[in-house]
Amino acid sequence: MSVNQQAHTGPPYGQPQPGYQGYQQPAYGGQSLPGVPQAQYGAYNGPVPGYQQPVPPQGYFPSLGFPSKGSPVSLNSDTSSLAPNFIGSLRAPPTSGAPPPASGASHPSGHLAYSQFDHGDVQNGIPASAAPVQRPPASQPFLPGSAPTPVSQISTFQQYGPPPASVQQLRNHMAGMTIGGTAASAPPPAGLGYGAPRPPAMPGPPLPGQTVAGPPSSQPNHISSPPPPSTMAGLHPGPPMSGLHGPPPPTHPPQPGYQMQQNGSFGQMRGPPPNYGGAYPGAPNYGSPPGPPPPPKRLDPDSIPSPQLNELPPQQKPRHRIDPDAIPSPIQVIEDDRNNRGSEPFVTGVRGQVPPLVTTNFLVKDQGNASPRYIRCTSYNIPCTSDMAKQSQVPLAAVIKPLAALPPEETVPYLVDHGESGPVRCNRCKAYMCPFMQFIEGGRRFQCCFCSCVTEVPPHYFQHLDHTGKRVDFYDRPELSLGSYEFLATVDYCKNNKFPSPPAFIFMIDVSYNAVKSGLVRLICEELKSLLDYLPREGNMEESAIRVGFVTYNKVLHFYNVKSSLAQPQMMVVSDVADMFVPLLDGFLVNVNESRTVIASLLDQIPEMFADTRETETVFAPVIQAGLEALKAAECAGKLFIFHTSLPIAEAPGKLKNRDDRKLINTDKEKTLFQPQTSFYNNLAKDCVAQGCCVDLFLFPNQYLDVATLGVVPYQTGGSIYKYAYFQLETDQYRFLNDLRRDVQKEVGFDAVMRVRTSTGIRATDFFGAFYMSNTTDVEMAGLDCDKTITVEFKHDDKLSEDSGALLQCALLYTSCAGQRRLRIHNLSLNCCTQLADLYRNCETDTLINYLAKYAYRGVLSSPVKTVRDALINQCAQILACYRKNCASPSSAGQLILPECMKLLPVYLNCVLKSDVLQPGPEVTTDDRAYVRQLVTSMDVAETNVFFYPRLLPLTKADVDSDSLPAAIRNSEERLSKGDIYLLENGLNIFVWVGVNVQQGLIQNLFGVSSFSQISNALSTLPVLENPFSKKVRAIVDMLQGQRSRYMKLIIVKQEDKLEMLFKHFLVEDKSLSGGASYVDFLCHMHKEIRQLLS
Ligand SMILES: [Zn+2]
Repeated sequence: MSVNQQAHTGPPYGQPQPGYQGYQQPAYGGQSLPGVPQAQYGAYNGPVPGYQQPVPPQGYFPSLGFPSKGSPVSLNSDTSSLAPNFIGSLRAPPTSGAPPPASGASHPSGHLAYSQFDHGDVQNGIPASAAPVQRPPASQPFLPGSAPTPVSQISTFQQYGPPPASVQQLRNHMAGMTIGGTAASAPPPAGLGYGAPRPPAMPGPPLPGQTVAGPPSSQPNHISSPPPPSTMAGLHPGPPMSGLHGPPPPTHPPQPGYQMQQNGSFGQMRGPPPNYGGAYPGAPNYGSPPGPPPPPKRLDPDSIPSPQLNELPPQQKPRHRIDPDAIPSPIQVIEDDRNNRGSEPFVTGVRGQVPPLVTTNFLVKDQGNASPRYIRCTSYNIPCTSDMAKQSQVPLAAVIKPLAALPPEETVPYLVDHGESGPVRCNRCKAYMCPFMQFIEGGRRFQCCFCSCVTEVPPHYFQHLDHTGKRVDFYDRPELSLGSYEFLATVDYCKNNKFPSPPAFIFMIDVSYNAVKSGLVRLICEELKSLLDYLPREGNMEESAIRVGFVTYNKVLHFYNVKSSLAQPQMMVVSDVADMFVPLLDGFLVNVNESRTVIASLLDQIPEMFADTRETETVFAPVIQAGLEALKAAECAGKLFIFHTSLPIAEAPGKLKNRDDRKLINTDKEKTLFQPQTSFYNNLAKDCVAQGCCVDLFLFPNQYLDVATLGVVPYQTGGSIYKYAYFQLETDQYRFLNDLRRDVQKEVGFDAVMRVRTSTGIRATDFFGAFYMSNTTDVEMAGLDCDKTITVEFKHDDKLSEDSGALLQCALLYTSCAGQRRLRIHNLSLNCCTQLADLYRNCETDTLINYLAKYAYRGVLSSPVKTVRDALINQCAQILACYRKNCASPSSAGQLILPECMKLLPVYLNCVLKSDVLQPGPEVTTDDRAYVRQLVTSMDVAETNVFFYPRLLPLTKADVDSDSLPAAIRNSEERLSKGDIYLLENGLNIFVWVGVNVQQGLIQNLFGVSSFSQISNALSTLPVLENPFSKKVRAIVDMLQGQRSRYMKLIIVKQEDKLEMLFKHFLVEDKSLSGGASYVDFLCHMHKEIRQLLS
């Protein structure tokens, strides 16, 4: 072990102290941020007379500069004013931008359907002879012009590596270095090894959402009208056809649910009843490699194509047996919900209410149940018995986002202080006081709504009851009248019976050759200089309580003393990485304002200091260990921000080898690609969780770096992973910096433990998300931010009653960013039913899909991917078969009948089945799959919704004079016109697709070039041009960026360009290149599965 500490060269004391008072904060990133304090929680100490009409929300702005989801949203959407006028009209075109349903018809605009143009008769899929197209990772860079080498072809690690210097030489070099010292030991600013240009000064590009005035989801309602809401409440869930396109079948009376007939009377399906031979012999074989003879074309229910369609020669012209417009449309369902439910606030006073869809813009009023922004359920009416639940196969699950950011119009949870004795709780089950507790005996006791135990009311909490049995202070106390609130925790809720210290952020920067050469090190250091002024603050505090520290590393670690009394920062090198320790305590974690000048000096010098580095190898586990040890020594929780570029192959604990092997795909060993290659990181994660050390990992790989293993600690500590493959300064810095800014600023709690209590009859049995569990009930997270969700599954352990319903209480104990220990409580009451029809009428498919995706993505860790896909299909077939058998009116077996609330289950399920994790195309890397798998596991319902079924907007249909978005269209190539420009977003990428026949004027206005051929698909942003169309499109892009938790990569796609294959991957209603079925085919397949179950 060698520790090299240089004596500091400046006088230790007497330095001007940059006290924070009076310090002028520089405008951040060129933007002046409003001086609004963040996250004000008014302490709620006892009754407040005016509580019934709470003061306007004090703001809960996790990221002031970067509008979080919903924050830029104006809730006065124009959908509300438009909606009523259109109700009742039927059979309008599906969307304003879509071609008419009939195949071969010309578009209203006179353009030919894209699918008819120059694509032969194969619309989805490429001939087997076609070379596979390079596709970037799901979220990540595609660098036109510099096609990345596929990982599988790389056999060495050091792609850019210069001849490595001798280890000893480097060690000596580092060890002897004094930062900013008088000795000229620092290398010259630019040297041989520093090839990348200095990044442009960060002028503070416009922040997402800031230039947008309008509500994000307001859409013109040119659409046909939705079925009236009453159909959902009726006995039969929904008329067969109302609100859908295509007339009701003349030969059949209206049936409940959604019908698809095979006699030709509906959906233009002709021919004999399908026998579903061919590639889908049954559920177990679905998605298996091709065995039977190649099936014919899509849209032919007689033979469902195999997943490997791309191996088929394109020969036959597709016969449109089923009209795609006659099957349930996600766009229509989303529009209907917006029109029906977007105008009224969602008031949570009633038990078991199904909230509006996540795609609907609505306001929530808390009247006793948690907002759907915090909790969404797969069903709001759950079966009374376990038998019923098993029969239906509908999973009972809640997707919980405990620290969700709210729009400014909504009130953040009040903070309740019950004094020294802490929150009032049930004696037996320890549930927290909530609106469902029953006060008895004149208010002296209360009966627990979860376990029925009777508990004495503490004297200080006693209050009289009114004639209805309600406490007279009911409306003055959030915990009696609201669904969500916080309690101030007492010392009993703290580790070691000691109130916590404020948390710390430690920035740990890879300074190996690749990181330096790409300009990344300089970029990060420049950014941190301003970003450190925007650390999360609490309440009215003038400055953040969070302390900061800095580490750089390659195969050794460099710690920095940035104590305010120093003239210059000091570096300490630890080269013995086998037994990591922190070489300094005093001066490592500091207050930003106090150490401002020293920190600035350090950040100036780091890029210079390593400019000539030739070190290509890195360590990884010791970096986390170092951060963990630093937090331990400081006795606080915190977050590590690690910026890392390569597979850690240097000799050290947690050293990894390249074990990527694409030959494992579709074998029983495929699961190993998702598993960590060593258990070392699992143990490290456990230690991190115990300390409250959360890890956020920013990856910049040029080749395989084993995300499955490197991600273990971030994942289990509640952290985030960001990946920027083939990072290039010019094209990727903006996106990275936006992610970093948001990540550093967002609302976050530390050292968190979540428990979900339930009323007798059901209990939480399974959990999905980024966390660690040391027992079966407590979800532990070293850190939990406002974007993270935990999906919880429930099972019966007894009978439920229709009278009392079922209750959930989610309690999250955490340390705030100022070091305050708190409990956040969310309560939700659900209905219970003895009739299956009630269950099916109160389901939410978006939430169901969130659960199913997480369930499947966890399954790939232990089962072959094909088994996981088959299980998903089987479960959904059982769900729909049970409905058909028990809830639908008798009808011929040839009819597919779907419950109204689940009519999108097949289309969405198909999107999950053919996602990169479950059915990767040849261009999807192992790291991409591991990355997406981990991302999805923490997603909320809105994120999974757009991730699996991307939003496709015809930009040329946008009204430049309004704030609204153009009406979305369905994700199919058939819907694209070659005369139009479209935008597609999935939460990770934004594509702008340009048709070959787009008018020259539009191209000029949007791209600033005179012709289609001159459009560069190397653009990572749209040019800023002063015309209404350019402004409108850029406003739309900014609006979408503002709604997502990550900054999306913008990719320009020209029709018939090579990149188009990448874009088509996201047209999820079509067959995919990786062999995923089209929507129509999959629906037929589901129908067959259901019929088999019923016969
Ligand atoms: Zn209880």
